[in-house]
Amino acid sequence: MTVTDEAPVGGGTPRSGEALVELADVQKWYGQLHVLQDINLTVSRGEVVVVIGPSGSGKSTLCRTINRLEPVDSGRILVDGSPLPQEGKALARHRADVGMVFQSFNLFAHKTILENVTLGPIKVRKQSKAEAETRARELLERVGVAHQADKYPAQLSGGQQQRVAIARALAMEPKVMLFDEPTSALDPEMIKEVLDVMVDLAERGMTMIVVTHEMGFARTAANRVVFMADGRILETADPETFFSNPESDRAKDFLGKIL
Ligand code: ADP
Ligand code: MG
Repeated sequence: MTVTDEAPVGGGTPRSGEALVELADVQKWYGQLHVLQDINLTVSRGEVVVVIGPSGSGKSTLCRTINRLEPVDSGRILVDGSPLPQEGKALARHRADVGMVFQSFNLFAHKTILENVTLGPIKVRKQSKAEAETRARELLERVGVAHQADKYPAQLSGGQQQRVAIARALAMEPKVMLFDEPTSALDPEMIKEVLDVMVDLAERGMTMIVVTHEMGFARTAANRVVFMADGRILETADPETFFSNPESDRAKDFLGKIL
């Protein structure tokens, strides 16, 4: 991976410590299922929060509400001080402020790697093609896939595709990046190359919310660990405290199974 000495990404002026993402009393139901219960979470600018918890605990739903891919039933969600727009161009811009990387890479199969990265900046950020391509090539270089720019997603390995997905999200100059199990679909030998890109991003000061089972990443890169079970945040702690001294039985049980 190429590590350049350009300014940290993170959108806007780096004012660390200030709340960038705020969820207050968020409730969400799927029919009878209370999938998000009393969610209160504030993520500061520059902070890396790792969300862990058993399958079905609501981690993906939480990510999707921040990006308004899913509406909530009540409560407030603020990104950089503003509530989520309901629809239209304002919502498109908001989504661009919140970069998202999924387990399945979700690249556009019929577009080249370069086009995958330039599409959003041209459409939503109104960049010129030349400007978007210059920036895209820098980002592809940074995530180590510059030589693949003219290929199609299917010609790349899973690890390379996921790094393109990260570059694509970064091209929109998001204020915060959400990662929902970004390495879960990868072969073991490709996990590290993706985690390395994420660690680099964290070190550059990007605000990140990361759902992952990679406890090594949580220990080294996270400022805080949030443990969810049954739609609730049961614990929030720094990684050292959480891993050495989990409080709830659910967390002890979960850590016992995965560590
Ligand atoms: P996690 O990511 O922690 O595994 P999810 O947020 O994906 O959990 O899911 C939480 C719960 O909500 C699960 O019980 C899941 O089956 C349910 N769920 C997720 N998406 C939907 C949906 N679109 N409609 C109904 N139930 C859903
Ligand atoms: Mg999930």
